[in-house]
Amino acid sequence: PDWEKRVTKSARRSSASSLTVLVTGASGFVGTHVSLALKRRGDGVLGLDNFNRYYDPNLKRARQKLLSRAGVFVVEGDINDEKLLHKLFDVVPFTHVMHLAAQAGVRYAMQNPNSYIHSNIAGFVNLLEASKSANPQPSIVYASSSSVYGLNSKVPFSEKDRTDQPASLYAATKKAGEEIAHVYNHIYGLSITGLRFFTVYGPWGRPDMAYFFFTKDILKRKQITVFESPDGGSVARDFTYIDDIVKGCLGALDTAKKSTGVGVGVGGKKKKGNAQFRIFNLGNTSPVPVTELVDILERLLKVKVKRKVMPMPRNGDVRFTHANISKAQRELGYMPTTDLETGLNKFVRWYLDFYNPLKNKSVW
Ligand code: NAD
Repeated sequence: PDWEKRVTKSARRSSASSLTVLVTGASGFVGTHVSLALKRRGDGVLGLDNFNRYYDPNLKRARQKLLSRAGVFVVEGDINDEKLLHKLFDVVPFTHVMHLAAQAGVRYAMQNPNSYIHSNIAGFVNLLEASKSANPQPSIVYASSSSVYGLNSKVPFSEKDRTDQPASLYAATKKAGEEIAHVYNHIYGLSITGLRFFTVYGPWGRPDMAYFFFTKDILKRKQITVFESPDGGSVARDFTYIDDIVKGCLGALDTAKKSTGVGVGVGGKKKKGNAQFRIFNLGNTSPVPVTELVDILERLLKVKVKRKVMPMPRNGDVRFTHANISKAQRELGYMPTTDLETGLNKFVRWYLDFYNPLKNKSVW
């Protein structure tokens, strides 16, 4: 069928040494950028996305168009669809899975808790089930989140720090994902790498994130609400530019070992070949208070911002994030190079030149 042809064409790689990657959440923010980068360097890429309506569906369709022009086909489907996943693994011999599909956002969990269980837990298990029985067994790289550090206040956050105090259901499902990944590594020998992203921003970004809706509201001359923590301290994030995150994702895929098909150390017995299990922080190591984010947007947009300062509500957000990235530097060659002002400038250009005008003309 036509569908199958497009899948195989998209996943064709340029040489034997390049990868064949299934990217879940390919029409999402990070998924689009990672898929484009893989395609650009000659890897085979197939996307999968259910195009859920959590935010502007037209933005997801516009990203899909961008991918299609670059030769990346995105299958419209859900990671919970067992039959579809088996079919995809039957048709394409994926060497890697880059798993980015998820219900993102911390505040929305108070409105729709089940969507987090559906995509971040049930969907992830379904994907791991399909991967474990695929031939070849792919290596898995998946997105976790800085939110797993929860109420931990020891900064910078390093991978060995405690992650048992999540502040939101989103964080709890991401933490569950890390533990589920461990099980599939232990029993089935899947090589699995988790990446804890720290507040990713940039062109083609997510409209539910503060830098995005601040930009929108500032341009509409609306008042901005900036939260401060109850002890008067500022709320800060380790904002990380999308191109840096993409490099980290590619580094993780390139250093991923092959899955072995057998678990590690069951009953103390050494099995042949050890499947790899890794977790890395991918952040910027340089947290910026949200008030400063607003100052930068004010300068870039050349609009005097009306601000209201409010105490931070208990809605799942944490006070600050700050990554220690030495492990990712050492093992993935990860080195972020974009400071917040430079990255926001690129976002604002995209927003003004592309997103805003198209939206106004409703040609999406
Ligand atoms: P996004 O919402 O833009 O992308 C996720 C994509 O997955 C969406 O296009 C959505 O339609 C798709 N999707 C959701 N549930 C699905 C399902 N059940 N089946 C198939 N597709 C499904 O989010 P993003 O910012 O690109 O995030 C990518 C990953 O990184 C997510 O796992 C997210 O939790 C994680 N993450 C992102 C950030 C960030 O700041 N952007 C920070 C930490 C972690």
